[in-house]
Amino acid sequence: MSGTMMHQPLTISSLIEHAARYHAGGEVVSVETTGEVSRTSWGEVEANARRLASALGKLGLEQGDRCATIAWNNRRHLEVYFGVAGAGLVCHTINPRLFPEQLIYIINHAQDKVLFLDKTFLPVAAKLGEHLKTVEHVVLLGPRDEEAAAMVPGLIFYDELLETGDQDYRWPELDENSPSSLCYTSGTTGHPKGVQYTHRSTVLHAIGGNQPDGLAIAARDTVLPVVPMFHVNAWAVPYIAAAVGCKLVLPGPGLDGESLVRLIDGEKVTLALGVPTIWLGLLGALEATGSRAASLERTVVGGSALAPSMIATFREKYDVELIHAWGMTETSPLGSMNQILQKHVGLDAEDMAKVRLGQGRPPWGVELRIVDAEGKVLPNDGETQGDLQIRGHWVVESYFGADESALTDDGWFDTGDVATLDGDGYLVIRDRSKDIIKSGGEWISTVELENIAIAHPGVANAAAIAARHEKWDERPLLIVVKAEGADVTGQELLDFYDGKIASWQVPDDVIFVEELPIGATGKVLKNKLREQFAEHLISAG
Ligand code: AMP
Repeated sequence: MSGTMMHQPLTISSLIEHAARYHAGGEVVSVETTGEVSRTSWGEVEANARRLASALGKLGLEQGDRCATIAWNNRRHLEVYFGVAGAGLVCHTINPRLFPEQLIYIINHAQDKVLFLDKTFLPVAAKLGEHLKTVEHVVLLGPRDEEAAAMVPGLIFYDELLETGDQDYRWPELDENSPSSLCYTSGTTGHPKGVQYTHRSTVLHAIGGNQPDGLAIAARDTVLPVVPMFHVNAWAVPYIAAAVGCKLVLPGPGLDGESLVRLIDGEKVTLALGVPTIWLGLLGALEATGSRAASLERTVVGGSALAPSMIATFREKYDVELIHAWGMTETSPLGSMNQILQKHVGLDAEDMAKVRLGQGRPPWGVELRIVDAEGKVLPNDGETQGDLQIRGHWVVESYFGADESALTDDGWFDTGDVATLDGDGYLVIRDRSKDIIKSGGEWISTVELENIAIAHPGVANAAAIAARHEKWDERPLLIVVKAEGADVTGQELLDFYDGKIASWQVPDDVIFVEELPIGATGKVLKNKLREQFAEHLISAG
């Protein structure tokens, strides 16, 4: 054999081993369910992850078995991420905001053997008890707790479980194509579907997503993933953080603006990541507390569309760059991130804002295309809209437990989003295909209508939906939550659209509500709004 290179499998244990070897003292700060802040290090996280892996082996778990978590972002959850996957088991993160029936469905479907829980979720778990068919061990993420022990028979305590683990346990050599984690999509219809990531897809996603034009997390950063660890592996932040050895700040249950401001200022966070609603809360808290969020350099925002007005506010008032990203559970999730090209350097503010408002372009490792209803590939001209499809190293091929492929005949995954792409690959999501408004054969983007409404000072949040219309089939209807103390009228909001979009795209009416229905992952449930208001224009005459 000559002229060959070493071959090492791409495994998650290699990430945490690296962190322990070269960044053992690197800090991991964790807000516990009690609200108390604890501090640990990458060295300790790795040692505990190994002890956990060993302890799970002693409990009789075998490679490929699923271990579920219902937990906040905290240090024990981080250890479970690495301990479970490192041992060759599958870390199945579950969204605690799901309804009990969905939780039962997901846990039974995944055939989870172990359930790791934060104390917050013990009452939920206690209720699920008898419906869970495969769970053999329930582990409370914490020390012994008699009150908790009384709620769940046979409850195991994480800190005691670790004591049973072997300190000298060594990570097994795994096939890089073996599964490492599992996450169910929060489908608004039908049963949730599981996406099972592999060691290889996870490592490639972490490396591919963290290029300088991606998340760009470096050892010198202090990173605050507000995005939950139960939502698509917290956008890979735990893996990337281990790979680069940055300081990690895990916010626990307090995701309100004021708690985040305290953490950002107290820990000198340089990068935070989360969905747009989180940053709306943060803005409010910055104003209320007078904090300048001085350490914060950038935030990555994704999960639903980011209103351009927010980009401007963060930059102008706080000197924080908002990086808009797009992705989904099926894509690990990083599919595109908004970073500029050389030709954009020096653009004036208005032109730069145009580049920055979209979802950005794909990193190496994934490709995007748009197609029409017949599957014909459409031009990347920045104007033609089509169904967005993706393929790449970290994109689903088939759902967990499903025999059939989830892909088109030529091997692409259809995202269900409607988008434009330009010649440089910049993506702009116009809508979910089921949300878009089709008025007299023309499409109207609900995202665009919402972005304009949210920029109005009298609006706290807004959703545009398709309402049935006798003549035009569908017409836009705007559902608005007023900003605190604002007394804006519907007509004022409609006038606000003047000159911003074509007049036929302006909503037909505005309905004010106290709050919008929000789903388990923080997105507005437009199907609920449609159920409630779809007939509004017909009944209004
Ligand atoms: P999930 O699998 O729950 O993460 O949902 C994925 C979906 O969220 C995508 O298909 C999009 O419809 C939506 N989404 C994610 N990021 C963005 C974004 N930056 N802008 C608009 N929609 C987004």
